[in-house]
Amino acid sequence: MFEASAIGGLRQFAPEAIAASLDTLKQLAQSGAPAPARAILVISGLGEGALYEADRETLWHAFEVPIFEQRHGADGALLAWECEAHEGLHIVEENAIFEQCSQGVLVTSLTDRRHPVIRVTAAFTGGLQPERCGCGRSGVRITGAAVPQDGARAGSDRRSISVS
Ligand SMILES: [Zn+2]
Repeated sequence: MFEASAIGGLRQFAPEAIAASLDTLKQLAQSGAPAPARAILVISGLGEGALYEADRETLWHAFEVPIFEQRHGADGALLAWECEAHEGLHIVEENAIFEQCSQGVLVTSLTDRRHPVIRVTAAFTGGLQPERCGCGRSGVRITGAAVPQDGARAGSDRRSISVS
């Protein structure tokens, strides 16, 4: 992932895409960093809240390239990713199991042996959508996680993982 302190190098490198946490991407946007040629990847962990439309718009106005959200496990494994249809996040079934429950979404990592994550409640809200995505891919997606219920981003929405 890119560190904001390396902005000079970014200008010289002229990347195709930038993948970083939302906080780092916001710092880049505010610092006038050059836009990547193709895309911004917003990398979040399971203990972080959803990427809200306001954040997406901030990044779009700064970089004017498509924004894609990804969820990574603590071991760095890709667990879910947003496609070009922007209709939720496709689950990487060989890396994680996502289950719907009354409290939200439970996650089990299939790759993280150092810090096992077994049926842990994810911090983001949303549901699981089994129907085919607009991009044509089959498989379950995490949907409805992009808009907070109160219509505004609250600090408490980006809370830590809690074991259910
Ligand atoms: Zn898709």
